[in-house]
Amino acid sequence: MTYLVTGGAGFIGSAVVRQLIAQGQRVVVLDALTYAGNLSSLASVAEEATYTFVKGDICGTDLVLSLLHKYQVTKIMHLAAESHVDRSISSPGDFVRTNLVGTSSMLTAARQYFEGLALEARQAFCFHHISTDEVFGDLGPADPAFCETTPYGPRSPYAASKAGSDFLVDAWFHTYGLPVIITNCSNNYGAYQFPEKLIPRQLILALSSQAIEIYGKGENVRDWLHVEDHAQALIDVVEKGRLGERYAIGGGAERTNNQVVAALCKALDAQRPRGDGKSYSEQITYVTDRAGHDRRYAIDFTKITSELGWKPSMTFEQGMAETVRWYLAHEDWWRPLWQER
Ligand code: NAD
Repeated sequence: MTYLVTGGAGFIGSAVVRQLIAQGQRVVVLDALTYAGNLSSLASVAEEATYTFVKGDICGTDLVLSLLHKYQVTKIMHLAAESHVDRSISSPGDFVRTNLVGTSSMLTAARQYFEGLALEARQAFCFHHISTDEVFGDLGPADPAFCETTPYGPRSPYAASKAGSDFLVDAWFHTYGLPVIITNCSNNYGAYQFPEKLIPRQLILALSSQAIEIYGKGENVRDWLHVEDHAQALIDVVEKGRLGERYAIGGGAERTNNQVVAALCKALDAQRPRGDGKSYSEQITYVTDRAGHDRRYAIDFTKITSELGWKPSMTFEQGMAETVRWYLAHEDWWRPLWQER
């Protein structure tokens, strides 16, 4: 069994690759190493005989097809994407190219490869498209959580490009019979997350004695899942999930941005107290809200729990304490990224 993991040098992709290698699988990573891709996130597996890294663009259909043939790939886990909402507001074209054109290129290569496989290899093949809960749009405070049948209503260029890529994957299933699975997951956090994202960014601002900036009134709600739990869910889905299906993945941890930053400050206060004895929460300030900022996302992950037995293994508070511990111990990983961002 060989896995092709696109975006494997990114935050979630690298967690998937580390877990697959630890579980004894053969993994080929295809990653363009954009600003968000980082080979040091894969340093712990770099010497493994079961690991191969290829620097390349998912928009290159011929490259993808050649890798599928060369490594006799059984499972594709497609994570490569532009992933930061704020960047999608300033540069939407990059998101259209990578998330839409890139996914269509991946599907084209996968279909050509799949159609040439012998029956047994076809039966094991899966194209797993990793998507986000942001495709569903905005929830009011009392609305039921998103699930697999929630209609799409993307509102940012990032969410729209991911929604479009999900539709392409669905179309390749229905039109060409390509065996696919889509997962839609809530906000991830944990080790190796690029410091533009909420938790590492606020953590580094706190440590640098700078203002911890929260959008608007800090009342936007997201569901949070630790990245290692997400990676295990993705592996469970690609190995045991039903083809043509979709699985919603979440952490059961709805928090306002105010609550997230409060938990972060609490963990920092415990693990690296400020020199003046005050809490890091003294550094919190509020800034102009993000354009089109969705109020609330929440996920009902009953289906993946009942069908595949997956559920989050840690609480948000445990995950936050562990994440803070990791960033405090790995300044060598994030410092260069923080300076270049
Ligand atoms: P990330 O930005 O950390 O990593 C993306 C990776 O893709 C990088 O390594 C980058 O170099 C690579 N990449 C970008 N363009 C490429 C291209 N054209 N060709 C090849 N590689 C390319 O993203 P992430 O947070 O790890 O997210 C991974 C996937 O999971 C994305 O599809 C994202 O939409 C989805 N997702 C993310 C979250 C989250 O909270 N981060 C939640 C749900 C779903």
